[in-house]
Amino acid sequence: MDKKPLYRKVNTTARGVFHLHSKDFSDSRRANTSTLMESKRSVMHGKKQRGLDYTPLFKFLLSKIGQSWSAVHSEAISRLDSEEPIFWLVAIRAEEKKEYVRLGEASYYSGLYVDEEGLLQLVNSKISAESLAPQCACCTHTFNGVRFTRKYDPAHLLSAW
Ligand SMILES: [Zn+2]
Repeated sequence: MDKKPLYRKVNTTARGVFHLHSKDFSDSRRANTSTLMESKRSVMHGKKQRGLDYTPLFKFLLSKIGQSWSAVHSEAISRLDSEEPIFWLVAIRAEEKKEYVRLGEASYYSGLYVDEEGLLQLVNSKISAESLAPQCACCTHTFNGVRFTRKYDPAHLLSAW
């Protein structure tokens, strides 16, 4: 069995634009007209970035759709520093099921759950990189690691939510 860790250490000084998208929504007009300013200020706030990247875990989970959750779960925890990131994607209770999950600035992944037979499943297998709309123009939006095909459209921003 592959025992490589399902996370990577990331350089916390890595370049990138980090801003609060929720703030953009509360004043979308300002956010749309001052993207440059917003970006500059956001770089200074980049410090709060976490030191670990769990992308390998998310890819691992997505590669195990239809398989026994107990086997997937025990392999995952043997290759992780912490169990918590598993549950960012996998809903244990039905009411926690999400069609997709946003992690980080603009990285989206399929929401997962465990069915009655104990198998790991997608909450909605129809969602893809073609179906989601980007929430801003400054970030590269991805779904399960694939770039969104739709372009950012401020007019549709609010209706999308
Ligand atoms: Zn952005």
